[in-house]
Amino acid sequence: MPKPKVAVHKFSSCDGCQLAFLDMGEDLLTLTTQVDIRHFAEAGILGEDEPVDIAFIEGSISTPEDEHRIKRIRANATLLVTIGACATAGGLQALRNLADAKAWTAAVYASPEYISSLDKVQPIRARVPVDFELWGCPVNSRQIVAAVGSLLNGVVPVDERDKVCMECKRQQAVCVVVSEGKPCMGPVTRTGCGALCPRFGRACYACYGPAENPNTEALGVRLHGLGLIGREIAQQFLGTTNQTPVFLDAAQRWKDTP
Ligand code: SF4
Ligand code: SF4
Repeated sequence: MPKPKVAVHKFSSCDGCQLAFLDMGEDLLTLTTQVDIRHFAEAGILGEDEPVDIAFIEGSISTPEDEHRIKRIRANATLLVTIGACATAGGLQALRNLADAKAWTAAVYASPEYISSLDKVQPIRARVPVDFELWGCPVNSRQIVAAVGSLLNGVVPVDERDKVCMECKRQQAVCVVVSEGKPCMGPVTRTGCGALCPRFGRACYACYGPAENPNTEALGVRLHGLGLIGREIAQQFLGTTNQTPVFLDAAQRWKDTP
């Protein structure tokens, strides 16, 4: 039996999610015995237009060239899986959707006419059908190993949609809201990170995107009670996963509250 063919593609992003593949350690060696990697530029393997069984996509769509390339990749892939906050929810570069990107370009570059970018940054599913999404900024090797294992066995990967708070309790971390009054986004954010930030005394900043049934209104009221004004509460929802409708709605509702 020929091995399934896999590709890893990069769009507008920082490359951090592709590192989750390279950071797999021994699992990467095992993976290479099970799949035939046909394109992975960060690892030096080039074959962008080859037909594959699974295409993993990092990054969001932010240039006209991106629009054309993602359509080619979709046409060449049986399954398309997005990895990371940029691909699933726009990433930090999508914050320009909230501003006048052309004015920024004109202010930053001496010759802005050479900059080719779309007015709006979009997640991958806004442009082509996506079969599965792995959330996080960055995704971690555990997620990649689990998803690849499921896909190679013809099983839909587990969609982890619990809230970070659930994981926080499982890990026996001390709640930073209760103990230190920090503005934690864990109550509305999906898990997958192992509650990494709270375990180190940091507030979650929602990089895994919205959890199942997120109560953004209740969290906004709690953040207000901690002393944040509306604009600061809106910013809490506009991190790397800012292009998710539920977080955009929450930011819109809170932004003008004193
Ligand atoms: S999701 Fe985060 S780590 Fe991954 S490519 Fe985007 S900015 Fe980098
Ligand atoms: S620290 Fe954050 S994630 Fe953990 S229980 Fe408290 S609010 Fe939830």
